Amino acid sequence: MSRALETILEIDLGALTHNFNYLKSRLQPETKFLAVVKAFAYGSDSVEIAKHLETLSVDYFAVAYTQEGIALRDAGVKTPILVLHPQAINAETLIDRCLEPNIYSAKLLNDFITVAEEKGQKNYPIHLKFNTGLNRLGFDPNDVNAIVAMLESTKAVSVKTMFSHLAASEDLNEKDFTKQQIETFKAIASNFKLKSGIEPWLHLCNTSGIINYPEAHFNMVRSGIGLYGFGNSELEDKNFKPIVSLKSVVSQMHEIEKGRSVGYNRAHTSNRTERVATIPIGHADGLSRIYGNKKGFVFINEEKAYIIGNVCMDMIMVDVTDINCKEGDEVIIFNKTHKANEIAESAGTISYEILTALSQRIKRVFLP
Ligand SMILES: *Cc1c(COP(=O)(O)O)cnc(C)c1O
Repeated sequence: MSRALETILEIDLGALTHNFNYLKSRLQPETKFLAVVKAFAYGSDSVEIAKHLETLSVDYFAVAYTQEGIALRDAGVKTPILVLHPQAINAETLIDRCLEPNIYSAKLLNDFITVAEEKGQKNYPIHLKFNTGLNRLGFDPNDVNAIVAMLESTKAVSVKTMFSHLAASEDLNEKDFTKQQIETFKAIASNFKLKSGIEPWLHLCNTSGIINYPEAHFNMVRSGIGLYGFGNSELEDKNFKPIVSLKSVVSQMHEIEKGRSVGYNRAHTSNRTERVATIPIGHADGLSRIYGNKKGFVFINEEKAYIIGNVCMDMIMVDVTDINCKEGDEVIIFNKTHKANEIAESAGTISYEILTALSQRIKRVFLP
């Protein structure tokens, strides 16, 4: 862990192993593990993360869009990949690249079957998603009869899994709602078995679901944020290690006389003689403008320095009047101690957003 001389995202693969093993310790030995690597593995690097998880014998991957699955196949990833949010236009590409679609509507089922038949497929694996209360994506529980009729008319596809997604698995005040979702999901699965005679694998839980609802792990769980080191609660965060550290460097120092302004639109005015450090990271790197004007902060020599004025495209300025620092000193935006959720929450957002926003132009450095 050397000192950063430019803006880098350090990715600790050992921490990823730790998080994977911790999550596995919360499962029954036979429960399968799907790793969610969408959005560049939550802003880190989907290829390196997927390859490392393959060495740990992960069972499945999920991405959101077809293009993300193609990138993994191009890099030689062999594990099955569920595409969570495909469109009908992707059907041919999905089959060509051995990517397995989430089928969430009758239209998509119909369109996918047509393409699978045209391409001479037999039992091509598909995954059926049901809406149990999130009201985002998925079949209605009452669609089972229609789905079964469509499936019985073809041999081109075969239902490998059925799943749903929880709306508030991290929020224990919503326990009743979540338990209702679990019951609805069970009812859909047994109705599907009754009508079709088939019993696909079932999966429902994301990271917080794994932790809070062990009775709902079914055949497989789907974890994203936990793998990257966040447990969605103060208690659980202790069991995870954040895998990414965002570091930078002080490019230049300025002394600002009282009454002078700093940055675009003169958003900050000094009320004393201030020392200001300029750092090469901005909104184009994923550090949103919401962190400007003292909502966000960084750490220099273990001291907290607030962002002053507006976040620029490629730079921020921070107030270091009371901090002993100089040009070339390392800057920590977040790491294992100063966690990403802390800066995110101070600006009213969540760890997921600050992580997935990190731009691909930031250099990735891997630790074994
Ligand atoms: C993103 C996503 C997940 C992962 O959720 P985490 O809270 O990051 O574990 C699981 N399932 C679905 C359907 C998702 O879209």
